[in-house]
Amino acid sequence: MSEVRVRYAPSPTGMQHIGGVRTALFNYLFARSQNGKFILRLEDTDRTRYDEKYVQNLYDTMAWLGIDWDEGGSKGGEYGPYVQSERFELYKKYAYELVEKGEAYYCFCDAERLDRIRKIQTENKMAPGYDRNCRHLTPEEVKANLDAGKPYVIRLKVPMEGETKFSDHLLGDIVWKNEDISPDPVLLKSDGFPTYHLANIVDDHFMKISHVMRAQEWIPSTPLHVQMYRAFGWEHPEFCHLPMVNGSDGKKLSKRHGSTSLNEFRARGYLPQAIVNYVAMLGCSYEEGKEFYTMEELAKAFKLEHLNKAPAVFDYKKLEYFNANYIRQLSTEELYKWTLPFITGTGDATLEINPENPQPKPNVGPEFSGVALGEDGKPYCVDKSMNMSSEDVEKTLMGLMPLIQERLKFLTEAAEMVHFMFTEPAVPPVEQLVPKKIDAAKTKEVLEAAKDFVHQCFSLDHEGAEALAKSKAEALGIKLGDFMMPIRMAVTGSRVSPPLIGSILVLGEEKSLARIEKAIATL
Ligand code: GLU
Repeated sequence: MSEVRVRYAPSPTGMQHIGGVRTALFNYLFARSQNGKFILRLEDTDRTRYDEKYVQNLYDTMAWLGIDWDEGGSKGGEYGPYVQSERFELYKKYAYELVEKGEAYYCFCDAERLDRIRKIQTENKMAPGYDRNCRHLTPEEVKANLDAGKPYVIRLKVPMEGETKFSDHLLGDIVWKNEDISPDPVLLKSDGFPTYHLANIVDDHFMKISHVMRAQEWIPSTPLHVQMYRAFGWEHPEFCHLPMVNGSDGKKLSKRHGSTSLNEFRARGYLPQAIVNYVAMLGCSYEEGKEFYTMEELAKAFKLEHLNKAPAVFDYKKLEYFNANYIRQLSTEELYKWTLPFITGTGDATLEINPENPQPKPNVGPEFSGVALGEDGKPYCVDKSMNMSSEDVEKTLMGLMPLIQERLKFLTEAAEMVHFMFTEPAVPPVEQLVPKKIDAAKTKEVLEAAKDFVHQCFSLDHEGAEALAKSKAEALGIKLGDFMMPIRMAVTGSRVSPPLIGSILVLGEEKSLARIEKAIATL
């Protein structure tokens, strides 16, 4: 078998989203599994929707995900350039070649005429499309028009009878009636720019692409592409149209379901490892019973034969579970590095979030954490009265990391969880201090007993401290949870703090006791 060469060929007309990432990832994994090449090509022929920021976003997203490519993009390679706008002369040449061969023709119809046809077609409920008027011009008529300097486009002569057949790796044989292929699509526009179809086929051919793996919405274009390869006299690559990705309601995944843009996943505190692992499962299976894969493992295990025909369903809950798993795998230093932007409201925390997303905006940044990032790149405590140096802040955060790690499903959640260390929390109102099962008087007893508990925590190991809490709860005749809850509220000001004993240790005896005293005073 000849070398596997596959490509991801996005058009920089929007931000990278889950669908595109899935296509990129599957192409990448297939190339790696076959010792082939993965090519990144920029299909920037649509100059009206083009924006440099989308190119940046593409590179940024690929780097963030750790999807590396062999040729193309900013890297170059043997078959470059890999940016279509730098290849316009080539497309032109091949468009004219098709005209010479009698496989394409000049069309001089102006916008007005095309509009008129469109109108008649809609009024009569006819299929839209070009009426092939110029296909029948005589060579003399064409010459006269060209000599007169009339603007033109070049259209493909799609066969008007018969069928186009091709075999799709996933979907099997596909047969398409030629009369159902768009009537004579434009290959070269009047400004000399190619259309997607022309540039895509010429590039896949000259970049020696062996397999075209792309989303299923491209299937209707494929018969046309097959016809173009035939017209050029080229062999077409193998086609493999990837399974659809739907939301939970069975409709194509869209913004209505939740995040779809990669930037938004980043802003919501997902790790790339989780996204890669989860997205790799969208429409593909690997080993029985194994859920978690690194990029290397995926690249080893990926097989075209394991693609599923059925649409994949994007399950946000499952991705959340993957995310929590990968957060737990991080070292303390890594977790600090990944959460710091969310704690300080910088970096990924500033990426755009779709306001229509049904999930609420995450509570990130100094307002929620009490920690901001200084111009020196170091975190500092916003509340000056806490008297903390940057080193204190860093040390405290590092101390908190192992505590919060178990509880994080999203990196964003770190901000609120660390807050109690960087501010003097308001004393919780009585109704929050008092657990449902016990009354205020009992709660006061709990907090009194907590003073000794806090003190002992500093000399006991974790099990010892837990055992002590249990025996104190028993002595008071209450459940452990009802013993811990008021202490947690008093010490951290919040029900959703990191584990209590660890929190007390990081906060220190003096501060912990002072907070307990304040709570006792309000009861
Ligand atoms: N530029 C096309 C896109 O944006 C590529 C389609 C293909 O892979 O052929 O999706």
